[in-house]
Amino acid sequence: MSNRVVQGRMVTPESLAEQVEGESILEAEPIEDADRDCPECGGDVISVGYMPSVTAFVTAYKCQECDWAEVDRD
Ligand SMILES: [Zn+2]
Repeated sequence: MSNRVVQGRMVTPESLAEQVEGESILEAEPIEDADRDCPECGGDVISVGYMPSVTAFVTAYKCQECDWAEVDRD
């Protein structure tokens, strides 16, 4: 299980990736703790790697406490 609570809601790797991406994604890896704090509120940041399409792999970072999110598309 790699489900986490984000902003009071349980998320799976897939639902977290889709929340950050804004649309459906193909596949997501387990959620991990990112070694960084949220620049907006100082909360804990988690990361999830996922494939938004068959040719792309990106890593999303999401604060567990607020709306802050960032996608590293290399
Ligand atoms: Zn935050």
